[in-house]
Amino acid sequence: MATEAPVASTSTGKVVPQTVLYCAVCHFPPEYCEFQPKKAKCKAWLEENHPDLHAKYYSESALEDKLANLTVEQREALEKDLAKKEKKEEQKAEKEAAKIAASKIVVKRIERNKKKWVTTVNGLHHFGVDLKKAAKLLANKFGAGATVSKTPQGDEEILVQGDVSTEVEEMMLDRTDKKCVDVFGGKIEQNQISFVEVKLKKKVIAPPEVAPQGAPQQ
Ligand SMILES: [Zn+2]
Repeated sequence: MATEAPVASTSTGKVVPQTVLYCAVCHFPPEYCEFQPKKAKCKAWLEENHPDLHAKYYSESALEDKLANLTVEQREALEKDLAKKEKKEEQKAEKEAAKIAASKIVVKRIERNKKKWVTTVNGLHHFGVDLKKAAKLLANKFGAGATVSKTPQGDEEILVQGDVSTEVEEMMLDRTDKKCVDVFGGKIEQNQISFVEVKLKKKVIAPPEVAPQGAPQQ
């Protein structure tokens, strides 16, 4: 796929007519935009960046001329096809948004022994966060060990020494600190984070590890 099609820039104020113009949205020449699924965006882009071409391709008469050359069947087929493509794009975007909205990050405070806690952060992969980078940022911030480890479910989580659950939440939600935004992406919402506390069970004698399953929900 051509993702870097040359696009004539208008920021210089110069219009170079010899240059072949490609739509910044679909990367086809603007004559073909109407066959692309994102044609509405193409049209808006052309109108803003090349009003002369927009007038040429999208004037009433230009569109009528084009449609007049098609048979009714061709026209219907074309419209149907475009509607289908547009719907597919829309559904894809909706699905993606729903996936992110439903993704939950779980922050666990885990009691390891008397007065010693660790904090784990699970689910960051839903947000495309690089866990190694995140662990490094947390380690620097808290001056404590932070590692990436595998969970029994097969995904990865970050484990930080100490109870830093509140601070970790603040960092994930931070929209202004450049380091935090770089690492956590700046799109995690508060309602996508939940907290779990895992306390030592009194009856168990000196457990080496606290099993994470069956953690009480707060
Ligand atoms: Zn286009």
